Amino acid sequence: MPQLPWHRTKIICTLGPATDRAGVLERLIGAGMDVARFNMSHGDHASHARRIQQVRQWAQQAGRFVAVLVDLPGPKFRLAELPGGTRELHLSADVMLALEADPADALPVRHPALLQALRVGESVYLADGAVKLEVKTAGAERVVCRVLVSGTVTSGSGINVPESRLSALVPTDDDRRHLGFALAQQAEWLGVSFVQSADDLIRVRALLPPGRQPLLMAKIEKRQALANLDAIVETADGVMVARGDLGVETDLAEIPLVQKRIIALANAQARPVITATQMLESMVMQERPTRAEVTDVANAMLDGTDGVMLSAETAIGRFPVAAVKILQRVLTATEAEYAARLARERLCANEATPAANPISLVACQFAARLDARAIIAPVRNMATVLGIARFRPAAPLVVVADSEDLCRRLAVVWGVSPLLAVAGFEPQSCLRLASHWLCAQGLAQPGDPVVMLSASGAAQGTADTLQVMHVQEGQWQG
Ligand code: PGA
Ligand code: MN
Repeated sequence: MPQLPWHRTKIICTLGPATDRAGVLERLIGAGMDVARFNMSHGDHASHARRIQQVRQWAQQAGRFVAVLVDLPGPKFRLAELPGGTRELHLSADVMLALEADPADALPVRHPALLQALRVGESVYLADGAVKLEVKTAGAERVVCRVLVSGTVTSGSGINVPESRLSALVPTDDDRRHLGFALAQQAEWLGVSFVQSADDLIRVRALLPPGRQPLLMAKIEKRQALANLDAIVETADGVMVARGDLGVETDLAEIPLVQKRIIALANAQARPVITATQMLESMVMQERPTRAEVTDVANAMLDGTDGVMLSAETAIGRFPVAAVKILQRVLTATEAEYAARLARERLCANEATPAANPISLVACQFAARLDARAIIAPVRNMATVLGIARFRPAAPLVVVADSEDLCRRLAVVWGVSPLLAVAGFEPQSCLRLASHWLCAQGLAQPGDPVVMLSASGAAQGTADTLQVMHVQEGQWQG
């Protein structure tokens, strides 16, 4: 069992052309990637399928569980193909938005509904908010805008119209097509973009077949989503602080506080939460991140995020492996100092709140008192694990799960190291399995105390038994 740089905060990497280079994917997994994200806004199904297959293969070879997150594009407007690929937009110039290539000097769009909805005076943002236009003349087929903030746009640049009441429905036809792909690939997680209300998630869920289903991660990136945040978090299986579009759709200056609000709510409702976009943006081109970026990563962890995500840094960047390594170092350094403090704060704060199963709170308190090397929990479902992880125990949460699918789903959750229950669910065999893993990772030595939280025969899968056990010596015998 190879030793991996152990960290509690999970690392999500978007795969793309940069990770296709020889040796990159296996090094990302070796450096600590926990979740591989596939952005359906870019690339084709054939290349995504090839990458998914490679992730599964390398993860298995490394003895790791890496989750696959297929991210649906949602109703995002984009510029169509530009002649020459790029176009400079100069300050105060007039520019026309029109249906593809009509007239030739217009910025082409493929969405008649967008043109119809634009009103005089409304703001139009291009290229993730880098360029700002204002509508001068409305029209069903041609809209003339003035450039208020100049810059360069490229084919496929995103278009955001935060003031518009245009309410495109999630899921779009395109989303349905990608959803079929995600199901065929047995993705563990499905990212749902531009969610505005819990109903959007309910509509996506209605499209899933009975039986094994991917978990839904609601991407919070619309103003309306902030207004309906409670219901969205409750309905979703996880959430993403999608700071890219959020920074255009809402006030950029409020992002830091909005991030804290979303994370706090997700933590309180025991939903895993990922903080995304521009975490190490400068590393798309440079080998070392900025001071501000590494500080942002550490602060997201201190806010209580379950995971941090890389987008362009790994998908198209020059230094994908270096980016994951630096994330891992920042997370480890921050956790070393703050994990125990975070656990103390959580345990105090939650003392009085009703937990779904109060024994999980007691297990974390017990582990802290004992300075246990791990909390070991045999589980058959996600909810039990989330119920423990929400208290952010400082000790590794070694989960012995009954299926590989569950192990991979759990890869998103803070502090959780999933192991497959190859020799049953009895506390003794779980202890043997966990002991071997803890020693191999250098996280414990034989004789160290651990806390076992398990379900007795009568408990029907709900944890009801807390035991102090000791890390065992010897090789794992299976
Ligand atoms: P995207 O989502 O990368 O799919 O746009 C994340 C974000 O908006 O931050
Ligand atoms: Mn987005």
